[in-house]
Amino acid sequence: MPMLETLKPIIDIQELDMKMVRLMRVKRERQKELKQIEELRADLHGELKAKELEVEEIGKQIRQKEIRLDEIREKVKSLEARQSTIKKVEEFNALTQEMTATERERVAEEQKISDLVDSKAAEEELLHKIRESLKTSEESSIALEKEIQASIDLINEEGSQLKTQRDGLAQHADPEILRIYERLLRNKKDRVVVPIENRNCSGCHISLTAQHENIVRKGENLVFCEHCSRIHYWQEAEVTEGEPTKRRRRKVAAS
Ligand SMILES: [Zn+2]
Repeated sequence: MPMLETLKPIIDIQELDMKMVRLMRVKRERQKELKQIEELRADLHGELKAKELEVEEIGKQIRQKEIRLDEIREKVKSLEARQSTIKKVEEFNALTQEMTATERERVAEEQKISDLVDSKAAEEELLHKIRESLKTSEESSIALEKEIQASIDLINEEGSQLKTQRDGLAQHADPEILRIYERLLRNKKDRVVVPIENRNCSGCHISLTAQHENIVRKGENLVFCEHCSRIHYWQEAEVTEGEPTKRRRRKVAAS
């Protein structure tokens, strides 16, 4: 059997394989999109969680400061109570000094609490915004994810049809050549059974010798490109099918 006949089913398989390669590329892109959506969502969830902890932490600080403030207020009261019982001037002065210091401490503590309350309110507002944006992005991303998943389902369907077709063709292919073809395809991820065009390898586009071309034209053996290892075949110039080969006779115009 001439080599081109032997290669025919392989070339048909190759076209299906190229379609499959493109299909899988699109599928990987789709999957990447899904992953990005998921990552974005995880980021927002992480941000939300961190903000919640922050707000909680500020709340804790406020409670601690309030306890401290109560203690200071108690101290002020007890100092005031002691004031009336003191007789000596030095003791009175010392007490007054302590009261002033305690009072200062109270004011400082109140200021700190007030600052914390403000910053808690600001953080809570941010928290609210994150929740809102998470909600909006989740609604839109769920729709987008469904759309992407549907397109992946279609790709899988198309892929399994291609595979069925390929399995059918593979039954008619020379198993040895098919094996060689598959090995080359794994390496190149591109067409590996290619015609010679203008004495060039149409795979690597390097020019070939006339001798090489002649061997391929004879079509007796499997011939590999010495530059890229692709399999070469010879394609005769296209002949339009179904057209009669004989020339139409010109009608002689009647005079
Ligand atoms: Zn080549």
